[in-house]
Amino acid sequence: MAIPFLSLRDVTALHGEEINDAISRVVNGGWYLQGKENESFEQNYSKFIGTRYCVGCANGLDALIWIFRAYLEMGVMKRGDEVIVPANTYIATILAITENGLKPILVEPKFNTLEIDDSLIEAAITPKTKAIAVVHLYGRNAYTDEIGALCRKYNLKLVEDNAQAHGCKHTDGRVTGSIGDAAGHSFYPGKNLGALGDGGAVTTNDPDLAATVRALANYGSQKKYVFKYTGRNSRLDEIQAAVLNVKLKYLVEDNAHRKEVAHYYYEHINNPLISMPDLLPDELNAYHLFPILVSGGKRDGLHDYLERNGVGTVCHYPIAPHKQECYREWNSKSLPITEKIADEELSLPIGPTISMDEVKAIVNLANSFK
Ligand SMILES: *Cc1c(COP(=O)(O)O)cnc(C)c1O
Repeated sequence: MAIPFLSLRDVTALHGEEINDAISRVVNGGWYLQGKENESFEQNYSKFIGTRYCVGCANGLDALIWIFRAYLEMGVMKRGDEVIVPANTYIATILAITENGLKPILVEPKFNTLEIDDSLIEAAITPKTKAIAVVHLYGRNAYTDEIGALCRKYNLKLVEDNAQAHGCKHTDGRVTGSIGDAAGHSFYPGKNLGALGDGGAVTTNDPDLAATVRALANYGSQKKYVFKYTGRNSRLDEIQAAVLNVKLKYLVEDNAHRKEVAHYYYEHINNPLISMPDLLPDELNAYHLFPILVSGGKRDGLHDYLERNGVGTVCHYPIAPHKQECYREWNSKSLPITEKIADEELSLPIGPTISMDEVKAIVNLANSFK
């Protein structure tokens, strides 16, 4: 038996013919940047998310960088201001803040949700706080109405990192990526909506923010050969936009399969060493990853056991951001819940192509681990 953590070849093959046609159309059309494919993807994706604007860019990290940089350029924030961010996140969220000379204020997650603990946010707010960054990590909606209330009370921007949550919703029906003032999206191949290379986007209802981000990602230019900002070249290319236009059509269907897989795990994993985060209402989870927590110091043991039996798993993430060398100044900080997640988390295979027979085999193996 060989069940990879995620077979991108299978994921692409699922809509392979249409993807190949789309790529050929761009190749033969002779227009490779800032063309019709980007225009239609931006329209389609903003409609899907429920925002007025979508601006394509090179990758998810850049999308987040451009949001904060735009707020600096717009005078909404200044260097040295603080941004509240979950301590348990992929490092890109935090890099986007420090890249702009802003100060991340790390807030612990709840162990039963793995998402930012909204009851700890207010105590972290200071006169320098300008924004809260929520990360819908693992595909789980991290926004709460309490977070929205804090943003209003303290006049903070709400920035969503929606890299892992394409198709996730809030209880009120809003799609993640449309809840905050701005959202960064990644189309890294392994994401729910993945390109065949790097890609990203910013969604927002704010016309000034959208225009500023668009300029920043295009050398800082709004008019050819006229430069308003010292920007960079961070664009989504036409081939990737064409691929994303195809894959977006199937995102809801692909996510539905993820849900079926996740429910099977929830209902059948019964190894006392393994716990799972609280089951959310279906619409609040895009099931990008399926995180489990392995107690007794046995996470790596389970990983190896599954690997020996042909099942690929990945830890998201083995070293918390505050323990990374690039953030030496935080290395002595104690964030016990984040650290416990880094020690115990293991992601089981989930995706649009894994078969239910494979899922059953994984459950049997996980349950037989001692
Ligand atoms: C993937 C990811 C990013 C970065 O996206 P890239 O396209 O890989 O740059 C940012 N935040 C989170 C939570 C991610 O998972």
